[in-house]
Amino acid sequence: MPSDFDAIVIGAGHNGLTCASYLAKAGMSVIVLEQYKRIGGMTLTEEITLPGFKSDIHSYSHTFDLLSPALKDLDLASHGLEFLFPDPAFTSVFPNGLAVSVWRNLDKTCESISKFSKKDAAAWRKLHEMYLAGKQNTVRLLFGPPPSFGSLATELEKSEIGMEIFRSFLISVRTWCNEWFEADEVKTLFGSWAMHAGFSLEDSNGADFVFLITSICQDSGNAIVKGGSAGIALALERYLRARGGAIMTEAFVENIMVKDGRATGVRLKDGRTFHAKKAVVSSVDPRQTFLKFVGEDHLDPSIVRKIKRIDYGSAVATIHYALDSRPSYYAGDEANNAAYVHTTPNFDSMAKVSYECRAGLIPENPWYLATNDSATDPTRAPPGKYVMKLLLCNLPNPIRGDARGGEITETDWDKAKEKVAERVEQDFSKHVRNLREIKLKRVVESPLDLERRNPNTVNGSLLNGAAQIEQFFSFRPFPGMSQYRTSIKGLYLCGSCTHPGPGVSTAPGYNGARAVLQDLGVDFSSLTTLR
Ligand SMILES: Cc1cc2nc3c(=O)[nH]c(=O)nc-3n(C[C@H](O)[C@H](O)[C@H](O)COP(=O)(O)OP(=O)(O)OC[C@H]3O[C@@H](n4cnc5c(N)ncnc54)[C@H](O)[C@@H]3O)c2cc1C
Repeated sequence: MPSDFDAIVIGAGHNGLTCASYLAKAGMSVIVLEQYKRIGGMTLTEEITLPGFKSDIHSYSHTFDLLSPALKDLDLASHGLEFLFPDPAFTSVFPNGLAVSVWRNLDKTCESISKFSKKDAAAWRKLHEMYLAGKQNTVRLLFGPPPSFGSLATELEKSEIGMEIFRSFLISVRTWCNEWFEADEVKTLFGSWAMHAGFSLEDSNGADFVFLITSICQDSGNAIVKGGSAGIALALERYLRARGGAIMTEAFVENIMVKDGRATGVRLKDGRTFHAKKAVVSSVDPRQTFLKFVGEDHLDPSIVRKIKRIDYGSAVATIHYALDSRPSYYAGDEANNAAYVHTTPNFDSMAKVSYECRAGLIPENPWYLATNDSATDPTRAPPGKYVMKLLLCNLPNPIRGDARGGEITETDWDKAKEKVAERVEQDFSKHVRNLREIKLKRVVESPLDLERRNPNTVNGSLLNGAAQIEQFFSFRPFPGMSQYRTSIKGLYLCGSCTHPGPGVSTAPGYNGARAVLQDLGVDFSSLTTLR
C-alpha cells in the first residue's frame, strides 16, 4: 500500500466516501482512513442480534439523499444501491388504536388526515404545493455551500413563498403546527419529526426541518436501502475502488501533520503515516479534527473557543429486535407497513420529554419511534423472521436522575440502559399485541455504546452539532469556517458537522469535494449533473 496520495479523507461514513468519490472522479489519487473494522459510519448494517438478522445500527430512513445529484453523478444504482419505498412513509399511532399517515400518494394522505380534520388535509395540500414550488431551490441550498444569512434573506425576500420559508427558519415547531393544523393528532403526526433532530417544540427554530423532511417523505418517499443502510456506503466504495481509490479500515487517525501552516498528511494511532500532496479532508467532528488531530498550538485561540462552545445536542439510544414473526400493531396494517411508526401519544407530550432531557433526566415516558425493516425488505432476516428497531431520541447524557420519581437510580448509561429499554418496551407493547411472544433477542445500545463504536457520535448524539439556528447555515460548524475550508491550508471538512448538517444526504461530502476541487482549479460543474 503506497503512503503518498493526492488526498487523504478521514472517516469512511457516507460523507467521507462521497467526497473521496468525487475527488477520484476528478482524477486524484485518494485514500479513505476509517477507524472501525467496517465502512459506513452511521450507515452501518450489522448482525447485532442474531446471525442472519441484519440491523441498521444507526440510520434506516433515506430522505435527503433521494434529492442528491451524487446518485446520478456516481452512478450508485449500477454500483448496487437499491432503494425500497415503504408505504406509508410514516404513521402516528395513538393509545386509542387510531392511526394517521403520510402515504406515498398525496390524496391518500389527505384522506387519512381528513379522518381528524378536513381543514388540516387542505392545509397539507397547500404546504405540499409550497414545497414543490421551491423544491429546486431547496436542492441547490442543500447541495452547495451555505449562503450568508444576508444573501439568504435577500433571496427569500423576493417572493411570498420565499418569505414563508424564511419565516419557517425562525419559528418553533409548536408555532408552525398551531398555525397550519387544528387536530392534535395531525400536529403530532408532523411535529414528531422535531424529535428526530433534537428540537423541542419550543425552540426558536425547527419548523423548517419538519416542513422539509415531511415534504420529502410525501414527494420522494421515506426510502430504505435493500439489504440495509450500509448499501449506500458499499455502493460508494465500489465506485471509489473502480476509480483507483483506496480504503483502509482499522486505521485510527490520531494526528494531522501540519508544516508551515499547511496540512501535509496524517499519523495513525499505530504510528503509520500517510502523506497528502494536495488535501487532507476530515469527515469527523471539529473537536477531533482540530483539538485532537491538529492541536491547539496550530490554532488561533478564537477558533479553539468556538469549537469548545459547540453544543452537540441531546443523545440517542437504540433497541434492536430479532423477531420470530411479523409484529401486529393494534392500529392495523397502516402501522404494520409504515417505514416509521411514531408512538408520540399527543403533541404536548414532546415538550415534556425535551424539558426532562435538558434537565438531565431520563424521561418519564421516553420518546421513541419504531421501524418496520422486514415489512418492505424481507432480505434483512431469515425467511418468515423479522427485524425491527426502536430509536429513542432526546435522552440526557450524562444522566442526572429519573423523571419517574427516581425509579431508575443508575446514572451510568451502561447500568441504566436495560431499565430504560424495559420502560420503553412496556409502552411499545401497548401498540404491538404480540411483541413479547415473538421476541427472539433484544440488544440495547446506549449513547455510550454508540460513541464507543463511532467517536463521531459525539456524546451519543446523532447530530454532530445540534441543529439549532445558531449552529446552522454559515454558523456550521462555527462562524468563520462554514465553507469547508479551514484555517490550516490544505485541510478541509466534509462531514455532517458542516452545512447542511446531520442526516444521510451526501451533501456535506459533495460540498466538501467541491471546495477542494475549486481550490485546485478543477471545474466542478463537469463532475456533476446539478445545475
Ligand atoms: C442511531 C442513529 C440513527 C439515525 N437515523 C437516521 C435516519 O434514519 N436517517 C437519516 O437520514 N439519518 C439518521 N441518522 C443520522 C445520520 O446517520 C448521520 O447524520 C450521517 O450518517 C453522518 O454521516 P457522516 O459521514 O457525516 O458521519 P459518520 O457516518 O459518523 O462517518 C464518520 C466516520 O469517521 C470515522 N472516524 C471517527 N473518528 C475517526 C478517527 N479518529 N480516525 C478514523 N476514522 C474515524 C467513524 O468511524 C465514521 O465511520 C442517525 C444517526 C444515528 C446515530
